[in-house]
Amino acid sequence: MIMFAPLEHVFAAKRQPFFRKEWLTDFAFHLFQTLLWTKLTLFSIEWLHHSFNAFIWIMPVRNLFSEQNLFLQILWIVFLSDFLIYWGHRLSHQIPFLWNFHKIHHTAVALDWLAAFREHPFDNIYTRVIVNLPALAMGFSLDAVAGYVIFRGLWGNFIHSNTPFGLGPFKYILGSPRLHHWHHDFDKNSRCNFANLMPVMDVMFGTFYDPGKMPEKYGIDDSISHRYLPQILLPVFPFLRKFFR
Ligand SMILES: [Zn+2]
Ligand SMILES: [Zn+2]
Repeated sequence: MIMFAPLEHVFAAKRQPFFRKEWLTDFAFHLFQTLLWTKLTLFSIEWLHHSFNAFIWIMPVRNLFSEQNLFLQILWIVFLSDFLIYWGHRLSHQIPFLWNFHKIHHTAVALDWLAAFREHPFDNIYTRVIVNLPALAMGFSLDAVAGYVIFRGLWGNFIHSNTPFGLGPFKYILGSPRLHHWHHDFDKNSRCNFANLMPVMDVMFGTFYDPGKMPEKYGIDDSISHRYLPQILLPVFPFLRKFFR
C-alpha cells in the first residue's frame, strides 16, 4: 500500500476513490490469503522441493544447469517459469474445472494494486506451484525461491494497479498495467495478454494485444456474488448457491 497508493494517486488511470467499489471484498482476499491460505501454498512448494531433491534422475540435469553462471541461471528460470505460467494461465481460461476457480480473479469490476489479491486459494496454489516448478526442479534453495515469489508478487500488484503505464519500448519484455488491464477487459473476455512478467510469450503464441489506451470496463458476465465468502465457497460447493443471492 505504501508503494502503490501514492503511485495510483499521482498517475491514476481512472478516477476512483481509494475505498472504491468492492474494496472490502479485495481486502478480505488480501487478509485471508496472507494470514491463512498462504500456509497451504507454502506447504505445496515445500513438498515439491523435497520431492525434487529425492528424485535422483534429475541430478545430471541440475549439474549441467549449475555449471552456467548465476545470471544465466536466473534468466533461464524466469523464461521457463513464464513459459509454464503462460500456458497454465491460458488453460485456466479454457478448461471448465480450472476456470471455475480462476474466474473469481476476473469478477473484479475495479482494478488497483489490491485487486491483484482477488484469487481463489486453489487458483493461488495452482499458479504458485507452476511458476516455481523450474526453480524447484533445478534445486534452487527455498530462500531464493522466496525472493522470486516476492518479486513476482510485487509485479502482480503493479500490473493490476490503477495506472496507465505501458512501458514504451520495453512493452514486449516486461508486463505492464496497460497490458494486464486488457486481460481483465469485459468485452475482450480475457482472450489476450496471459503472460504476467514476459509479454514476449503472448507475442510468440499470438495473444498479444495493445491498442495503446486503457480499457473502459472490467469484469465478466457471470452472476456469482461478489462478496468474499460466496467467492471462496461456491467454486467448491456450488449447491450452496441458493444461500448467496
Ligand atoms: Zn486470467
Ligand atoms: Zn489479473
